[in-house]
Amino acid sequence: MTLGTPISRLFMVGPAYTNKLGRLNINTVGDLLYHFPFRYLDYSLVSPLGQVQAGETVSVKGQVLSFTNQYTRRRQTIQKAVISDGTGQLQATWFNQPFLKTAIKTGQSIFLAGKVEFFGSQKIMTNPDHELVDQFKPAIHTGRLVPIYHETTGVSSKWLRSRIAVLLRNQNLLVEEFLPSILIEKNSLAELRESIEQIHLPNSLPKLTQAKQRLAFDEMFLLQLAALSRQKAWQQKKLVCHFQVDAQKLAQFIKSLPFPLTAAQTRAIGEIMTDLQKDQPMNRLLEGDVGSGKTVVAAAAIFIASLNKVQAALMVPTEVLANQHFLTLNQLLTPLGIKIKLLTGSTHQKQVDDFDFLIGTHALIHQRAVFKKLGLAIVDEQHRFGVGQRAQLINQNRQAPHLLTMTATPIPRTIALTVHGDLDLSVLDEMPPGRQKIKTWLVPAAKRRAAYAWIRQEIQTHRSQAFIVCPFIEESTHESLQSVRAAKNEFTRLQTKIFPQLKLGLLHGRLKSTEKVAVLKQFQQQKIAILVATPVVEVGLDIPNATIMMVEGAQRFGLAQLHQLRGRVGRGEKQAYCLLFGENLGHQGRQRLQALQQAHTGMELAEIDLQMRGPGQVYGTSQHGFFALQLASFTDHRLIKQTRQAAALVMPSLSRYPRLQAKLKEYKINQVEPN
Ligand code: ADP
Ligand code: MG
Repeated sequence: MTLGTPISRLFMVGPAYTNKLGRLNINTVGDLLYHFPFRYLDYSLVSPLGQVQAGETVSVKGQVLSFTNQYTRRRQTIQKAVISDGTGQLQATWFNQPFLKTAIKTGQSIFLAGKVEFFGSQKIMTNPDHELVDQFKPAIHTGRLVPIYHETTGVSSKWLRSRIAVLLRNQNLLVEEFLPSILIEKNSLAELRESIEQIHLPNSLPKLTQAKQRLAFDEMFLLQLAALSRQKAWQQKKLVCHFQVDAQKLAQFIKSLPFPLTAAQTRAIGEIMTDLQKDQPMNRLLEGDVGSGKTVVAAAAIFIASLNKVQAALMVPTEVLANQHFLTLNQLLTPLGIKIKLLTGSTHQKQVDDFDFLIGTHALIHQRAVFKKLGLAIVDEQHRFGVGQRAQLINQNRQAPHLLTMTATPIPRTIALTVHGDLDLSVLDEMPPGRQKIKTWLVPAAKRRAAYAWIRQEIQTHRSQAFIVCPFIEESTHESLQSVRAAKNEFTRLQTKIFPQLKLGLLHGRLKSTEKVAVLKQFQQQKIAILVATPVVEVGLDIPNATIMMVEGAQRFGLAQLHQLRGRVGRGEKQAYCLLFGENLGHQGRQRLQALQQAHTGMELAEIDLQMRGPGQVYGTSQHGFFALQLASFTDHRLIKQTRQAAALVMPSLSRYPRLQAKLKEYKINQVEPN
């Protein structure tokens, strides 16, 4: 049996449990073993009954003197057991667990674990955990540090614990050490198999700590090694053709722009130009907040590509954005004699050719745009694409183009260096001048009517426009039918009940693209006052007259994502506003959203979210689970440094470590895209 063995082959795991485990993303033996506990109950204190104190959480071991199952008047049941260990007695009480009758029998030896209370001189435990004493097997639910897992309906921690314990006792289970011994020694790490055993069923706290250290090391180390190996693969690529950068023409181009560049834009363009003149293909990430002006930076690179007589491509995640980029870049580049074409899912032409620069959605790869000589590939909002999709764009020829990826997702530097260790980084850390702050409020439910009245008045007196964004219903980044339905219902309600005198529009991802374009055009031409939308508007949309962004179910969004949504307004002269509505916010939830009232940069907000929710939540775990670090933390600078050194040490001689190589390969297959 190996880590790859399907979970259904395990003893006592039938089709029903296989399904249930699937909900926890547990499909193989390895998945089950890597489903680590997130906390432990300390039942390690095993106390003689004569010595337990009131209020103590302990395990006790005794003989069952009696067990009764009583019915109450309301068809409830109560189970009572009395146990004794010779030094004292204790009464355990459970509610509505009649099945215990078959498990606990008079005369048996049993462990109970829980909190002891005194009722007069009588010692009692309510709803304790119980476990029969088995002289051949150590206890797993009592008398030790007891692991608690993320559960799902029908799969309890107790169930997981017993399955995992059986697995770990199985001598035929193969858990191969994949770290080279040099790394184990150098970093004083525990062995893999032992660490997996100890993280589930720790013998002691120090053993648990060691196990966590080892497994956290693995997580961060593989992340870094994967980045290094991507870097190596990239460096071995041959560039399509050598670029010349004509500094004079570039300067003219920059002078012809309708605005002076910010210092950050100038710096980023400089860094890109340096890359373009190298014989290695560029692999650079341009990171800049919403509205920081990434598009003109890209335009400068496209201009240089055209001077070098190669084609350029820009891939964007949505059709709306493709259309928008097409308009903006047309204005900038067509006067320079650059032939631009657009390719999206709804482009009638199934194949486009005869262009210098092609803008498009995923259609660029799916509909096989015909490139004669692709010299520069740009991917906007790169986190929306998978590794595979990007690879398809750049690998159409055997030789590689220069690659520029752009993102508005603020990634703190330590994280960027770890997960994007293979990319060079340019950061636009400065906004074009004259941007105003968007006034942001977290609105309490009681003020909802007042908020609607205020929006109505703003629109009527200032002729401004508003977005009302409905959340994704599921915790997912993809729009489901259910989310679309919710947005439709909200649209109808708002149009008929709240804003009958205004014209509302509806935008969601399931509209046909011609419908989308039509709605947006109406909104742009101010024929629609309020656009009700799912978060499809998040990405890149530019409507300068819109000044109000209202977000429903704000608690479902990350702060950076809310910041992106907020960035849809405040692009013109008028003061802009963002109104957030949340449901069932706890104290922490409220605090988190209130951060948006004060913080106005994506980076600031990312740091706050990172502190409050952790990287798993912020950068998404289950859906696009790149940051699915269970144990390691991006705030652990020591671990980051240690693992970076380790990765650099083994990378040059990776072929000497076949097990590590295999692990890395499997890791990269399962790995979802950074950020
Ligand atoms: P993003 O980084 O979000 O892609 P854009 O490139 O869409 O940002 O730019 C946002 C807006 O700012 C656009 O309307 C663009 O014309 C404008 N802009 C970009 N750079 C400058 C600048 N240096 N000065 C003034 N306006 C600028
Ligand atoms: Mg943009």
